[in-house]
Amino acid sequence: MVVHNSRDIFAVTFWGVRGTLASPGCEFKRTGGNTICAQLRCGDRTIIFDAGTGIRALGSHLIEQAEIRRIDLMLTHVHYDHVEGLPFFAPFFSPDFKVDVWLGEIDGASSTEDAVKGLMRRPYFPVGPDVFQAGITYREVATHAAFELGDGISIRTAPMNHPGGATGYRIDYRGRSFAFVTDTEHVMGETDMGIVDLISGVDCFAYDSSLTDAELPDFAGYGHSTWEEGLRLRDKAGAGAFLALHHMPFRTDDELDAIEVAIKKWHPPSGVAREGQTIKL
Ligand SMILES: [Zn+2]
Ligand SMILES: [Zn+2]
Repeated sequence: MVVHNSRDIFAVTFWGVRGTLASPGCEFKRTGGNTICAQLRCGDRTIIFDAGTGIRALGSHLIEQAEIRRIDLMLTHVHYDHVEGLPFFAPFFSPDFKVDVWLGEIDGASSTEDAVKGLMRRPYFPVGPDVFQAGITYREVATHAAFELGDGISIRTAPMNHPGGATGYRIDYRGRSFAFVTDTEHVMGETDMGIVDLISGVDCFAYDSSLTDAELPDFAGYGHSTWEEGLRLRDKAGAGAFLALHHMPFRTDDELDAIEVAIKKWHPPSGVAREGQTIKL
């Protein structure tokens, strides 16, 4: 008999890496066109970061496999590119699943439940979240929180510099760690020490790399950062691999290949997050 200790599993899979707007088409196929969604397996628990269009395929995958029935969905914020797949997440329609939905403080919504109801209401959507059949608990998270999720999973959060607010997350599990840091804008020449603290010594982190340093001045105030800043933060925080995330809808595979070459020249273990990619931590 083979004894498989699933408690040891700690791996991140990207189901959507595109920011702002989904981008189907052959120029984007190798990196993927779905908007933001990542799955972090921590033993038998699954933490999902954001519910962009990528969460639809993740939902089908979770329905098909049997070992995971408990999910924590951690939303950075509720801009469309981070939640537009939420009403299409199959486990929400199954009474077999228990899903906790987490959201930090944002402008324009008084609670997590209020934000989800706002997304699923007329005239924007035909039905409300009352159609869901899973055991759903809506939870609020503070922007400087540190707490335990049970089963050895520790969470920390930090505020992002983003219009309306957003929350970055760090997960520590059995001596390993991962951070999900998007959407956030940096001030050129200044280091966001809150982010350095969040990703300090982390094994791997995904970071808002919507732009390049050269493009940033044209997008001031939109709340996004650059792949170069991701590497600078990595250096300062003594973090492991940096993964560029939240690719702009116009960024082709060829352009992202060139960015990845530049990233690897700076720090070989780092790279570009791509849809379908799994990294064991
Ligand atoms: Zn975004
Ligand atoms: Zn946003």
